[in-house]
Amino acid sequence: MASVSLIEDDDRIRAALLRALADHGHTVRASSTAMEGLQQIIEWNPDVVVLDLGLPDMDGCELLRMIRAVSAVPVVVATARDDESTMIRTLDQGADDYVSKPFSAEQLDARIRAVLRRGKTSRSEPEKIEIGQLVVDRTSRDAHLGQQRLELTRLEFDLLWHLASRQGTVVTKRELVGEVWRQPYGGGDRTVDVHLSWLRRKLGETATNPRYLHTVRGVGVKLVAPE
Ligand code: CA
Repeated sequence: MASVSLIEDDDRIRAALLRALADHGHTVRASSTAMEGLQQIIEWNPDVVVLDLGLPDMDGCELLRMIRAVSAVPVVVATARDDESTMIRTLDQGADDYVSKPFSAEQLDARIRAVLRRGKTSRSEPEKIEIGQLVVDRTSRDAHLGQQRLELTRLEFDLLWHLASRQGTVVTKRELVGEVWRQPYGGGDRTVDVHLSWLRRKLGETATNPRYLHTVRGVGVKLVAPE
């Protein structure tokens, strides 16, 4: 069963889906605007997002683009717009699946389970990740930069692995606190900053002169191959 972030502005539909998804065993949090929904995704880090495209404050496609900038969370788009061009555009922008209104809660639940299954397969992690000169090996829990072995603490290794497995994607500090430190968010930014700066030093770089580890101001950090 999954944690589901539901973004839907229609009170009646929202209430009905909340109840139906909860009946299917999911933990559901709902928002009625795009901005509220985005905030919730960043803070709560749900397993899956159900997104209505027609929202009062922002077009759902635009919101989807913003979600994709900060998160790889599976998104099921639920909308009345069943024309093919909207559907294609939505999928192109990173939606994982699509349901047209009216749909049954059973269908939505089946789609949620399907994207979660797919996510598990595609996210089954490799044993080893190579990014530029950097090689991170999960089995032996060591990392090399070129020929040089990096002396990393347990947390630094976990942090590096998490960033490497999401290479090229901006990872928020909240996500790092949740995934690496396994704590719900609560003022952990400073701890993340400190460990990031230690990791940077071991990678032989600085925040102002990054090679692998790039800070995206106000959003988070991403690991990329140097240019
Ligand atoms: Ca709507």
